[in-house]
Amino acid sequence: MSKNWRPATKLVHGGTLRSPYGETSEAIFLTQGFVYETSEAAEARFKGENDGYIYARYGSPTNDMFEKRMCLLEGAEDSRAMASGMAAVAAAVLCQVKAGDHIVAARALFGSCRYVVETLAPRYGVECTLVDGRDLKNWEDAIRPNTKVMFLESPTNPTLEVIDIAGVAKLADQIGAKLIVDNVFATPLFQKPLELGAHVVVYSATKHIDGQGRCLGGVVLSSKEWINENLHDYFRHTGPAMSPFNAWTLLKGMETLPLRVKQQTQTAAAVADFLAEQSPVARVIYPGRKDHPQADIIAKQMTGGSTLVCFELKGGKEAAFKLQNALEIIKISNNLGDAKSLITHPATTTHKNLTDEARAELGISGGTVRLSCGIEDTQDLLDDLAAAIKGL
Ligand SMILES: *Cc1c(COP(=O)(O)O)cnc(C)c1O
Repeated sequence: MSKNWRPATKLVHGGTLRSPYGETSEAIFLTQGFVYETSEAAEARFKGENDGYIYARYGSPTNDMFEKRMCLLEGAEDSRAMASGMAAVAAAVLCQVKAGDHIVAARALFGSCRYVVETLAPRYGVECTLVDGRDLKNWEDAIRPNTKVMFLESPTNPTLEVIDIAGVAKLADQIGAKLIVDNVFATPLFQKPLELGAHVVVYSATKHIDGQGRCLGGVVLSSKEWINENLHDYFRHTGPAMSPFNAWTLLKGMETLPLRVKQQTQTAAAVADFLAEQSPVARVIYPGRKDHPQADIIAKQMTGGSTLVCFELKGGKEAAFKLQNALEIIKISNNLGDAKSLITHPATTTHKNLTDEARAELGISGGTVRLSCGIEDTQDLLDDLAAAIKGL
């Protein structure tokens, strides 16, 4: 039944486990452990002969609800909730590689994701090749016989480039590698990487899934087989488990996810169209606009433009700072997906650790600004931007 529900219904009811009290809202089980009626029951639980819980590092009821609800939404067989998006990314990559393996990743990655594949993995003997992910030929050329993992994010942060997920998945399948997709920017509502052929999907639930700036969280979703063979033991024994309190907060966030993302996306589209008409703006990148450089790929794999807009000001860093400082409603913050509209200047914040050359490769200049649209009134946000642009 629940498999056939549409997303908004799954996000309210999916995975709910009611206690004998019949509570309406999901219960928070803030417990480390569980007690057994008898010694025999404990023995059976440890043998895996019954499904109960053992220890909160392995799993617990509130986290289970979050994991099941995410599986239903994503169309995944299984998942693991993690303490943060980065715990999820690190687990998804590291649980399946060993010394001598090779990773191919798109160079346009969230900064910490890039650290995991570019800096951390090589310390353990896992080599990594970074490519311009927009061209499938680059992926093909980088593949080696020992390539085990391919990793990408689409749309990318902050310049909203897209990568042909089905194309990269096909290349991975040819050599038995696994494709991991970080689907944060598209949200689970607008892009379904598993349906496009990806093997593993990761989220920072901190972003749209919470969506109200409260707690960190992450999740890894895949087939039962992949999780059993790769993630299950890694997860139990390295301890990236999510707090049950955060799982509860995120369950509440999921209930309103479609309402928030719909409003945020409507605003993002209006903001992108507005910015495209402003003379101080050199270019606007928004996956929902026909003039996006990869509109053809977007049409194949995304069902909406999502909540972020990237734009470049002709006046460089000076204009970007002036614009940000003049805004009243839109706040300066490096976070995204929040109910509050947030603006950031990547070159001096999220991407300041890259070399000038690496930033240029990613299309980030002094005038590049990333805006995460919130759920405020669209016209108020347009007015806020208009006033700030007028001052340039
Ligand atoms: C925020 C983010 C992460 C990391 O998530 P945290 O919850 O902050 O650890 C990973 N990938 C992308 C694309 C993100 O935006």
